[in-house]
Amino acid sequence: MPEGPTILFQKNKLQRFKGKIVSEASGYGEMDKSALHNIKLMDIDAFGKYFLFIFKDFFVTVHLGLFGSVLVNDRKKVNASFALHFAEGEINFYVTKTKLIEGRPQDHFNYKVDILKPEFDAAFVLNELQTKYGDEAIGDAVIDQHVMAGVGNIIRVESLYRSKIDPRSLVKDIPEKKLVFLIKTTLMYAQEFLALTKTKGVKTEALVYGKKTCPIDKTELLVEVMGKVKRKTYVCEKCQKLYK
Ligand SMILES: [Zn+2]
Repeated sequence: MPEGPTILFQKNKLQRFKGKIVSEASGYGEMDKSALHNIKLMDIDAFGKYFLFIFKDFFVTVHLGLFGSVLVNDRKKVNASFALHFAEGEINFYVTKTKLIEGRPQDHFNYKVDILKPEFDAAFVLNELQTKYGDEAIGDAVIDQHVMAGVGNIIRVESLYRSKIDPRSLVKDIPEKKLVFLIKTTLMYAQEFLALTKTKGVKTEALVYGKKTCPIDKTELLVEVMGKVKRKTYVCEKCQKLYK
């Protein structure tokens, strides 16, 4: 599944359509597309794992899910689930979930939790974690899109390894300064991920994701589908502390 930095990277490639007129929207998706006819596309943004197409009184969110993809001025053999047509070209989405929402994105999404937005607020995220997620395993909480939007499984696994925290630790058992460090590490790694997306080297450059041994002590990693999120997790039990 694409993570926040991948969406941001792809969103930046769509900017040529900003300010252009949408002549028509198509696709087999169920969303009512009648409003998307001869209307100016004010802006294209991203929130977490969503693309945001912003119009004057509403916006459209597009989520790629597990198998989604996007093509500009190019088509696959299968039908697009959602497509925007312009005099200048077209954007085609495949296997996506699309939603039309009235109002502005910032009234609907909390920009303070997006790991790639300048509005990100580490103190807010820390407080949310401590007050609402105390009894959750940190491995589940860190990928919850209400805690930190844009975190996917690679960012989750790498940030927990780099912060030396075992994902099975409960949030309430982790010292505050370690949580602060984890939030900071997640943000830094998201930027690294974004830079690597441009060279497609995210998986090769990962320290433990998709690997068998710890790069520091060569210990065999614990590789297991774990937590409520049921995502494949890589842990070095020597480097990552299980807080109790
Ligand atoms: Zn290790």
